[in-house]
Amino acid sequence: MNLNAIKAQLTSSPAFVIDRDALLANLQTLAELRKHSGANILYSIKSLPLSLVLQTAKPFVDGFSVSSLFEARLAKEILQGTGNIHLTTPGIRPDQIDALNECCTHISFNTPSQFQQFAPTAGGKVSAGLRINPKLSCLNDERFDPCRPHSKLGAAIEDLENLDSWAGIEGLHLHNSFSATSYTALIDTMQKIEDLLGNKLGRLDWLNLGGGYLYGSIDDHHPFIDLVRRLRKRYGVQIYIEPGKAVVGNAGHLIATVLDRFVSGGKTIMILDTSINHHPEVFEYQRQPALAEHAPAGTHAAILAGCTCLAGDLFGEYRFDTPLAIGDKVVFKQVGAYSLIKANRFNGCNLPDIYIADGGKLECVKQFSYEDFRSQWHYTPEICLP
Ligand SMILES: *Cc1c(COP(=O)(O)O)cnc(C)c1O
Repeated sequence: MNLNAIKAQLTSSPAFVIDRDALLANLQTLAELRKHSGANILYSIKSLPLSLVLQTAKPFVDGFSVSSLFEARLAKEILQGTGNIHLTTPGIRPDQIDALNECCTHISFNTPSQFQQFAPTAGGKVSAGLRINPKLSCLNDERFDPCRPHSKLGAAIEDLENLDSWAGIEGLHLHNSFSATSYTALIDTMQKIEDLLGNKLGRLDWLNLGGGYLYGSIDDHHPFIDLVRRLRKRYGVQIYIEPGKAVVGNAGHLIATVLDRFVSGGKTIMILDTSINHHPEVFEYQRQPALAEHAPAGTHAAILAGCTCLAGDLFGEYRFDTPLAIGDKVVFKQVGAYSLIKANRFNGCNLPDIYIADGGKLECVKQFSYEDFRSQWHYTPEICLP
């Protein structure tokens, strides 16, 4: 459904809109890759764990990848035993391992010590693996780089060479990319791993190559297909990938309405009924999100600002062909991943309503209320006091 049609049909604001056709197109691309390469596909639900997205993805994927007990429980509830649940996290808690063992089919432990401590607790019911840090940085921003100096993510690959016992390690997990639009990093990383570990890979049942690739934005999939086929043949391993953003990134939009407009120090400010708290990465990484109405050569500039008390609650300066007026809607497009899941109700500003665009139809599927806000913060003092 095109963005203008969505804007025209919306009955409330701010709105987080899932475009089901875009979601299905992404899943179709992944299903094709799966068919041609033999890789197993897991949706990394942390990017957007909406049940509707999980249900839509379920027939296209081999399961879900998760980062915590809550995600694992949600994945189990949706899959009902019909798919894999892979967990990796640096923060496994002793008080949750039994419940994790109940939910997960595969766990990639973050360190050899966690592996030794927790892998035996599953009694063979969960396939136990190790996350490795291939020590190959493909990102120039340390904040997203799992291979940054002193990384907390995964066992250093050179330590694996000397790991006396690989006993019990059924799989390896790696993830060192973010929003990549070519397979170069993956090819280079696997080359390094094969150079260092070589035939030891043949002792494994599976290899999880992680997420971080925008499969829909890559034209030539042959390097991926050839790599996966070769790894499967040479080492007899199952290959998994676990995309998040590639599934939902371009399938979600945040739509807001202009509440006020004024000039401050010579620049036009538009106050929106949303804030950076509905898409916190804007502030976390100081990254300006793409705006559908932005016209690079437009003669009217305006700073789009959020409605909270924080002075830096700003989306950035955009340009327009015609000036925006109070009541106009704007679309932060392709913000399906890592936005709503990180959203909060700072200043008591409600979360956006959730809509699904399906074919020509737009349907509001969830609204948060004052009761939701209240239940997060309200407690009965008698229970909390000694
Ligand atoms: C975040 C993450 C993913 C998904 O990453 P995308 O960039 O959304 O594809 C997959 N695996 C691991 C281990 C992750 O941390």
